[in-house]
Amino acid sequence: MTSPDPLPPGSAAAGASPPAPEAPSPGGTRPASAPRDVLGLLGPAPGGPAFDGHRPPPADLVADCVHCGFCLPTCPTYVLWGEEMDSPRGRIHLMRQGLEGEPLSDSMVGHFDACLGCMACVTACPSGVRYDTLIENTRQQVERRHHRPARERALRAAVFALFPYPKRLRLLRGPLRAYQASGLRRLVARSGLLPRLAPTLATLESLAPRLTRAPKPPDRVPAYGPRRAVVGMLTGCVQSAFFPGVNAATARVLAAEGCEVVINPGRQGCCGALSVHNGREAEAQAFARNLIDAFADTGIDYFVVNAAGCGSSLKEYGQLLADDPAYAERAAGFAARVRDLAELLVELGPVARRHPLPVSVAYHDACHLGHAQGVRSQPRELLRAIPELELREIADPELCCGSAGVWNILNPEPAARLGERKARDVLATGARLLVTANPGCLMQITAAIPRLVGTASAEPAGAGGIAVAHTAQVLDASIRRLPVERLLSTR
Ligand code: SF4
Ligand code: SF4
Repeated sequence: MTSPDPLPPGSAAAGASPPAPEAPSPGGTRPASAPRDVLGLLGPAPGGPAFDGHRPPPADLVADCVHCGFCLPTCPTYVLWGEEMDSPRGRIHLMRQGLEGEPLSDSMVGHFDACLGCMACVTACPSGVRYDTLIENTRQQVERRHHRPARERALRAAVFALFPYPKRLRLLRGPLRAYQASGLRRLVARSGLLPRLAPTLATLESLAPRLTRAPKPPDRVPAYGPRRAVVGMLTGCVQSAFFPGVNAATARVLAAEGCEVVINPGRQGCCGALSVHNGREAEAQAFARNLIDAFADTGIDYFVVNAAGCGSSLKEYGQLLADDPAYAERAAGFAARVRDLAELLVELGPVARRHPLPVSVAYHDACHLGHAQGVRSQPRELLRAIPELELREIADPELCCGSAGVWNILNPEPAARLGERKARDVLATGARLLVTANPGCLMQITAAIPRLVGTASAEPAGAGGIAVAHTAQVLDASIRRLPVERLLSTR
């Protein structure tokens, strides 16, 4: 094998002048699954060229990259480690080498795996490079063609046997609630043993939100007043198991705005986002077909999503099932009706009266809402329309909080550092309420706050003086004239 060039033509050392990246955070290490081996010295993986003929990263999209480096300062892994091969430009360079016949080495896979898929580089790129398509295709190749070490395989198998299955996640609620209600959580936090003995379990434990009651959603919620639209609603996996209040608020807000909401909770499963973002193509396609079938013949005008990562994948169902003659057309039609909640509410225009909420709010752009779907102005517009609510901006909004689906579980150390950085910027706003539209971001940032403010608190979220809420919960509180204290207790 020839060694991958450590620096592609046009990179900083080759004479170009990219914007200076922020100094990498000191003391950080790359995740264990991503060996620090920019020269490829760890050797090739056995078995031919990196990519097979089924959806390799398209060569024309790879060629679109002009190596300018404008994406570098917005890439969280480049910010963390300052490694060219952990930048979008470096990863595209590795894809090009793969297309030219290089084998899929452990090193190469490590750099691809380390990508959070946050798509900040897509927003930053002046040449319109479709890194989203590139990394998605590359990940499918990695999943099919790369043999991971046994420990990594076991961890991934456990993650993907649990998270895309809302029923299995809901089974965890009972034991988790009992654990949270007992003094055990505080004891575990004080002992500091869990992170040393079982780092993955410690990460999961720190991310788990404080659980409340979770009544089963109804099949349908009628529109309040004249019906303006019939809207299907995704309940999601993590959202339905751990944030049922967000789904209930979403349905109430939609109904208040004149939408009949179709939920069909018994028929819904995972939308496939987690699978598609991790290269598990066949699994993602199966989930997508199931969801399309669940809402067939329901007469929906729109399909609303309140979780950013799910929304971005649902909008790409057309591409995901493009080669399936039985579903290609239906998938494209379904995708065309998908809207993020904020997107649809702005599209329809408000009819429900907003009541004052005297509170300062820091709004966090979830990457898969801002970068992947371009939905940035709509949530802000909705929040600003609430009387007495003061909206504050968070510094470096383009940088990922480190959640990124299950990236924070697979890469706990760098994820924690990204989470703390984001939490610091959130706290610097001085706002009393953090609002975002993705369950992963809510868990990631609220888990980081207690670590940052130095509390050895065992509270799952919100310690450190800032409450957290989904955009839907803020709108719901304003429409229902709830006291602001109700929102500020959502920690
Ligand atoms: S998707 Fe995010 S982590 Fe991956 S290369 Fe782009 S900016 Fe970096
Ligand atoms: S991905 Fe875009 S911004 Fe980044 S180096 Fe290539 S052309 Fe420049």
